[in-house]
Amino acid sequence: MKPASTQLKNLDHFNAFLHVPNEPLVSLSSGRLAGITVAVKDNIAVEGMPLTCGSKLLGNFISPYNATAVAQILDVGAAIVGKTNMDEFGMGSSCEYSAFGHVLNPLDHTRVPGGSSGGSAAAVAAGLCDVALGSDTGGSVRQPAAFCGVYGFKPTYGRISRYGLVAFASSLDQVGILSADLNKLIEVAENICGYDINDNTTSRKPIPKWSTDLEKNVQGLRIGVPQEYLDGIEEKECRQVVDNAIEQLKAGGATCESISLPLTPHVLPTYYIINTAEASSNLSRFDGGRFGNRTPANRFHDMVTASRDHGFGEEVKRRILLGTYVLSKGYYDQYFDKATKVRMLIRNEFMHHFSDGIDLLLTPTTPTRAFRFGEKSKPLTMYGSDRFTAAASLAGLPAISVPMPVDGLLAGVQLIAPHFREDLIFRSCRYLSYY
Ligand code: GLN
Repeated sequence: MKPASTQLKNLDHFNAFLHVPNEPLVSLSSGRLAGITVAVKDNIAVEGMPLTCGSKLLGNFISPYNATAVAQILDVGAAIVGKTNMDEFGMGSSCEYSAFGHVLNPLDHTRVPGGSSGGSAAAVAAGLCDVALGSDTGGSVRQPAAFCGVYGFKPTYGRISRYGLVAFASSLDQVGILSADLNKLIEVAENICGYDINDNTTSRKPIPKWSTDLEKNVQGLRIGVPQEYLDGIEEKECRQVVDNAIEQLKAGGATCESISLPLTPHVLPTYYIINTAEASSNLSRFDGGRFGNRTPANRFHDMVTASRDHGFGEEVKRRILLGTYVLSKGYYDQYFDKATKVRMLIRNEFMHHFSDGIDLLLTPTTPTRAFRFGEKSKPLTMYGSDRFTAAASLAGLPAISVPMPVDGLLAGVQLIAPHFREDLIFRSCRYLSYY
């Protein structure tokens, strides 16, 4: 009989995995998550395994330590089965920007799996693992989950340690969890959320026992459906799933009401100024001198330039250029400073509804279902895929994409809760569960 790792590789027709260890990594044979198989996005550190971030620049880099989330998963007996493919450094919405080839959507091979955690979503959708870790900066867990028909959860900013997650935009980045099985997702969340001395943005708030203590109804919940999000839908199926979800929630005793988030048109410009600014700063560490691949040159400056030029793909270069621009003297006030102020207004707009008694927001996760390869080759068209997910990231709110069947494919609906109210999300998800 072949070892599990070889079987996994043979089954991966989707290019979902970039690295598979000879044997699944396990540090305990018992524990709460014993027997659960977990795939890890290739921007999250697993000791002794490659950590490429989908980039040529880090093609030869081996991680010297475990990310906190990875260590916590191993500590409760789960098995790590491999590292998953992704858009380079987390920048993208289709996995077409990986330096190591496209990932196919297991539901339809002509379509993208979404991004940037497309490998994690495809691995889970294809049944190659029970759960996958991803990272979500503006939607990178929720959007691929919607495209591949699985759950994709991003916690409140500060719930899960970012130690060992390669930074893209630090004020937005969160580790997220994908699974076709809501209960397994919740179990993993319970084990990896919490304070970490190695990440001073993590919260000391206690982690509720979500897996056992959740109420089993949505009775009395007030759910707001933002009109601007419905207006931004491009494919009617994405509207249909929201309508189906409203019906289900109402049947469970919740009330659903139309609300307005007038700043919605400003979400994407704000998100793309902040993420590029932070990325340009975070990615300056990749200079060919300390990490990854070096392109030799006679002078230091030429070595740095050549290493970055050969190592980074087009989209990463575009973000670094944009980010450097919005931070530069003369443009800082006009772009970056303004964006941080608008970010606060966007956050306040959500807080206003929550303090008004709205418990949860319900939106489509994406404007369209999974699109075809090459369909969104213009950067601005691609950026449009984040239209419904970026606001929760800017506001630091917890959110999940819930898979809903529609006309042979699947689409996602998104639930957004107040800070640290993941319980409301998980509770409501049970009413919308497809699996
Ligand atoms: N698609 C978004 C972007 O390219 C989201 C990325 C992410 O969440 N990592 O910025």
